[in-house]
Amino acid sequence: MAKRDYYDVLGVNRDASEEDIKKSYRKLAMKFHPDRNPNDKSAEEKFKEAKEAYEVLSDSNKRAAYDRYGHAGVDPSAAGGPGGFGSGAGFEGFSDAFGGIFDEIFGGGRGGGGRSNVYRGADLRYNLEISLEEAARGAEKTIRIPLMEECEICHGSGAKPGTQPKTCPTCGGAGQVRMQQGFFSIQQTCPKCHGSGRHISDPCGSCHGAGRVKKQKTLEVKIPVGIDDGMRLRHAGYGEPGVNGGPPGDLYVEIHVREHPVFQRDHDDLHCEMPIGFATAALGGEIAIPTLDGVANLKIPAETQSGKVFRLRGKGIRNVRSGHPGDLLCHVVVETPVNLNERQKELLREFEELAQKDAAKQTPRAKGWMDKVREFFSD
Ligand SMILES: [Zn+2]
Ligand SMILES: [Zn+2]
Repeated sequence: MAKRDYYDVLGVNRDASEEDIKKSYRKLAMKFHPDRNPNDKSAEEKFKEAKEAYEVLSDSNKRAAYDRYGHAGVDPSAAGGPGGFGSGAGFEGFSDAFGGIFDEIFGGGRGGGGRSNVYRGADLRYNLEISLEEAARGAEKTIRIPLMEECEICHGSGAKPGTQPKTCPTCGGAGQVRMQQGFFSIQQTCPKCHGSGRHISDPCGSCHGAGRVKKQKTLEVKIPVGIDDGMRLRHAGYGEPGVNGGPPGDLYVEIHVREHPVFQRDHDDLHCEMPIGFATAALGGEIAIPTLDGVANLKIPAETQSGKVFRLRGKGIRNVRSGHPGDLLCHVVVETPVNLNERQKELLREFEELAQKDAAKQTPRAKGWMDKVREFFSD
């Protein structure tokens, strides 16, 4: 539903030449071609997306319509929303053979009566990256979104100042033409003027005849406490503008939570690794644990083993709906000391000698394992 800007898809500027568009498309097509990425759904999507963008931007008529109306100008499914005729792979050749006429019939949602070119604006998606702390505490973010606005030079006419758009010679200004296709006689949007009824022979230099230019608009986004990676915030009416009085699309702000150096998130719980020295592990002690709202002290009992998990209740993240906090789970990793000096090594050798005397009691896991290995080889 939320379509990316075709120029963004191909990674070219709005004033890119045909040659640049072709070059960029070729590169993407090579990279994401299904033959090169078997069973890779995301590559397949990217390939389709690039193909669709190229089909529009490589055709000067379609490109002009896209520049003028956004996705609504070139995509029948944008008007009808999900379930529209779309451009399903199976229909492509079919649709082409009939010069897009079937799109016109089945496109749906075009409004009735004389005004057949009323479109809802396309939805837009904005990717917003936030930190884990912001997700935990909530935040307010100012984002800048691209917006099409009336061109100041030509005041939306698309014609060079001092000139006027002329009546379209193909449809005589009606915006519609009648076509005979076999048994059908079909009213179709004029292919020359795309329904505007006007023809611009001398386009405005600022907007290249589109009548609209891309502007930036700032928008305050309120991030609710507990939001998780991949969630979307909908801002109704902030998508692309509608055409001929159609309603605008919506803006979806998709949240991406950056990786945190200490905590990994699992729904409302947080996990962290807690390395402790083997002396602390053996003797017990108290350790300062970082949490999202400050430091907490954790008592480590004597004889704590690697892999032990301590659960700090309520120190996770509040559920975005219920507000109920998750837990913080600390995973103990007993760290083997490194860079020992001679004195330390000496003490450890002495310690080991003593430990070996009562191995079954002091290192039961190692002892049990050795016994199993011995049994295995004696069979
Ligand atoms: Zn202009
Ligand atoms: Zn026309």
